[in-house]
Parts: sequence; structure tokens; C-alpha cells
Amino acid sequence: MATHTFGTREVEVLGSWDTVVVGGGTAGASAGISAAREGDRTLVVERYGSLGGSPVHALVTPMMDSRAPHGRNLHEIERRLNEIGVTTREDGDRMGYVWFTPEALSEVLETMLLEAGGQELLDATLVDVDVVDGRISAIAVMTVEGLRAVVAQQFVDATGDAVLSRMAGVPCAAGDDAGNNQMSSLRFEMGGIDVERYRQYCLSLGDNFSPMVDGFFWESAMVAGKGFKLEPLFRQGVADGVLEESDLVYYQCFSLPGEPGVMAFNCPHLPELKNNVSAMARSEALADGRRRIRRLVTFLTRYMPGFEHAFLVREASMLGVRESWRICGTYTLDVDDYVARARFDDAVARGTWYIDVHSATKGLVHMEKYQPGEYYEIPYRCLTNQVVRNMLTVGRCISTSFLVQASVRIQQTAIDMGESAGRACARALAAGVELADFDGRGLLG
Ligand SMILES: Cc1cc2nc3c(=O)[nH]c(=O)nc-3n(C[C@H](O)[C@H](O)[C@H](O)COP(=O)(O)OP(=O)(O)OC[C@H]3O[C@@H](n4cnc5c(N)ncnc54)[C@H](O)[C@@H]3O)c2cc1C
Repeated sequence: MATHTFGTREVEVLGSWDTVVVGGGTAGASAGISAAREGDRTLVVERYGSLGGSPVHALVTPMMDSRAPHGRNLHEIERRLNEIGVTTREDGDRMGYVWFTPEALSEVLETMLLEAGGQELLDATLVDVDVVDGRISAIAVMTVEGLRAVVAQQFVDATGDAVLSRMAGVPCAAGDDAGNNQMSSLRFEMGGIDVERYRQYCLSLGDNFSPMVDGFFWESAMVAGKGFKLEPLFRQGVADGVLEESDLVYYQCFSLPGEPGVMAFNCPHLPELKNNVSAMARSEALADGRRRIRRLVTFLTRYMPGFEHAFLVREASMLGVRESWRICGTYTLDVDDYVARARFDDAVARGTWYIDVHSATKGLVHMEKYQPGEYYEIPYRCLTNQVVRNMLTVGRCISTSFLVQASVRIQQTAIDMGESAGRACARALAAGVELADFDGRGLLG
């Protein structure tokens, strides 16, 4: 039996791969797919029972607008969603959103990974790392068998929270100048909604928030103090004691393709959770979120036209974290790059989403939106660091400033950077170059 030593502990080796991706979420699944496609023996380690991360387990849908040229994976994900009956666009692409259901996305990602020859280790949580001379030699994961060592030539940290990077000693930042993280949310879904009646009610109020006034897809929102037409109804809920004032901070919902009568809610915000890098605070926020969901469900079914027969379908099993830790990598993408629509020779992804901060202290902070056709690029050096030579970090925790993270974090961008990272792993390995020394050119798919 082969073993690997972590400190003083001998751990049985589960196996050995070229590339191991830790975290099978938005960026990680994409990284695993492209590393496997380019020929690496690839394993994706995921703590939950299926791939997908935030879009699947935190119920974050749809994918926000990003009209920059995208990589192969995103196009293929969308094509496959449509092939299994999920209509991802119904608007001639007026919004640029990709509409999907969590289970369909999870199915598509798994199929793509396995077809590419990649493997997944589900229900397995990263708990330790062995770093020798600036290289990760193995990670320890908790599995149903117990603690097991996973050995690889190179690793990708796609945990969202930079878990592997932090364990390996990569310096990280978190939050804004005051240390406050972006607002987290606990999302949920309701069914039995008469969406058409809801839509007509909103339109009758002169509510023109949703860019789509016809067709199946429907989006609705209310943010207190911003002139939303739904606010008086929510205020009535507060006056009647059904809602609390803090429930009015942010309300938003989206229809789901192929699921008539079901809507996905991008709320409640969890205003108590200003610092989400605390384990206890996160746990308390989950309980707070569930209480808020119950209040919202009661309010909607009692007050909102179209919700008379609606019911709670499910609450997210994963906290919706917009921002937590960000690695301090080789290059830190900053607001200047966003403003300059920066271009890089080592680009791994292109972003167009605006700087969209859900601030725990300042409400919504938005910066200038791009015109159609404009985009900035994210350099490979935002994925590398000066501490660990054989690891990339992808997803919402790459090396950016707090403000730029609020643009980089959306799903289409995360999928693209994951794809480039997987490609980099295969090419660096083939060239016998450490990921930290790889030049990152020619990675865009
Ligand atoms: C409330 C909310 C609303 C949002 N709204 C939108 C939206 O409408 N549209 C949009 O495009 N984007 C939206 N976003 C942003 C976007 O969904 C996320 O930023 C993006 O999905 C993050 O991708 P990621 O790959 O970095 O992390 P994730 O997709 O979260 O993946 C991380 C994965 O790592 C796994 N993991 C973590 N720790 C471990 C460990 N120790 N061991 C093993 N596995 C581990 C997790 O289980 C997870 O599967 C929203 C985000 C939030 C929180």
C-alpha cells in the first residue's frame, strides 16, 4: 500500500494524476474538462455530490450577460443544455444571459468531463496539503474511506474560497478597505407561481425593470430606496409585521427554463454577515437566511399577485458567497485595467460585466458599464503566485482588487478562465515547464 506523509501522519494514496483540480464548480469543472481534453490524466475533487459549484448548489442562475468572445467550453455547455431540452435564450440574445436549471448544468458538466476522459472524486473534501520546495506534492482529502492522499504533477485551486492556495501558504486578501466582504445570499426556488399574472401585475405598476416584457423568461427585482415600483407592496409587508426592514435590502427573481411556474430567487441578502471569512459567522448566516426565506415566502404568497398558490421548492444547500478571499498573485487586476479595457499577451478570459458590488455597508456600488463590443482581458498571471510553482488558482478568488473581483466573478468569465487554466496545465506539463514559469500565451479558446 503506497502512502504519503503529511506532517507525522501516513496517509494511504488513492491515486496519482497529471492534473488535479480541487473544486468542481463553475471554473473548476471547466478546468478539468479542458485539461482532460488536452491529454492530461485529470481528476476533479469536489466536496459535494455533483459538479457545478455555486450555480448548482447555491442555486445561482442564470449566467449574467457577457458578450465578449468566449471559449469552447461555454459554447458547448450552452449547446448541450439546449440538446437536453433546456432553452438557454429566447430573446434573440437581447440580454446576453444564459438561462439554465441547476440539475441540467450539473449533468452537462459531468458528461463533458467524463467524455473528455477526466475523472471525478465526489463527496471528497480537501483537508491538507504537502508543499515541498515550493511545489505541492500531494493533497489530503476526506473521503468515505477516511483520509486519502491524492498525488499529482500540478494542481488547480478552484474552491472559490482559495482553500488550497491558503493551505499552501499563498498570501490572500479579503473584503474591501475596511475588511467587509460583499454581501452573501442564501438563494431559494418557489413553484406554483402564475408567472404571467406576476408579470402583468409588475407591468401594470409601470415596472420596467425586466429587460424582457414578453416570452417565457422573466426577471423581477426590488431594492429599497431606488424607486422600484414594487417597493410600496414590500413596505406594506413590513408595516404588517410579515417582513423586516432588512428584508427589503435586495429582492430579485428569475424564471427557469423548462420549469413553468418556478422562479429562482437571488435573495435574501444576509446583511449580518459583513465578514464571511469567519466559519462561525457563515454558519449563523445560513440559519439567518432560512428565517429570511420563510418570511419572504409568507409575504409573497399573501401579498404578491401571481403567488396565491405558490410554495417553497427548495433552499440552497450552499451559501451564496459573492466574494471572500482573493489570492495575492503575480499580477493583480485593478480598476485601472477595467477602465482601460486592458489587453494582455497572456490573456485567459475576457470580461464585460460591470463592477457590481453588493456592499454590506454601502448598498449596491456599480461602475460604468461597457458598450457592446468592449471588454477587458484577465492575464494568466492573475492565476499564478510567487509561492507555489505547480498550482493555478481560478474562479472568483483569482488575483484582483476588491472592485474588479465584482466584475470577474460572473459565471461566463469563470468558465472561460477555467478552460484556459486546464489548457495551461496540459501545455506546461508537455513542455516540462512549471505553471509559475509558463508564459500563458495562446490560451484563449
Ligand atoms: C448570491 C449570488 C448571486 C450571483 N448571481 C450571479 C448571476 O446571476 N449570474 C452569474 O453569472 N454569476 C452570479 N454570481 C457569481 C457566480 O455564480 C460565482 O462567482 C461563480 O459561480 C464562482 O465560481 P467559482 O468556480 O469560483 O466557485 P464555485 O462555483 O462556487 O465552485 C467552488 C467549488 O469548490 C468546492 N469546494 C470548496 N471547498 C472545497 C474543499 N475544501 N474540498 C473540495 N471541494 C471544495 C465547492 O463545493 C464548489 O463546488 C452570483 C454569486 C452569488 C453568491
